[in-house]
Amino acid sequence: MSENTQTAPLANTPTGYGWCAWHQGNARGVRLVAVAEQGSGPGTAGRHFACRPCREAYDLVPLADRP
Ligand SMILES: [Zn+2]
Repeated sequence: MSENTQTAPLANTPTGYGWCAWHQGNARGVRLVAVAEQGSGPGTAGRHFACRPCREAYDLVPLADRP
């Protein structure tokens, strides 16, 4: 028996309103994507939210849509 009373904003929500790291602004329908940041050191991976237009523009795949 587990009670789910926690409210975790943007944790596993497929879509939501949040900050898009690509166009540097808030947008609706942002998704969490993982990006390998180049030039900032080895093994540096960041997780950022991206809105739909930016995902299409930069060919980003949300974490939830990956195999
Ligand atoms: Zn964006």
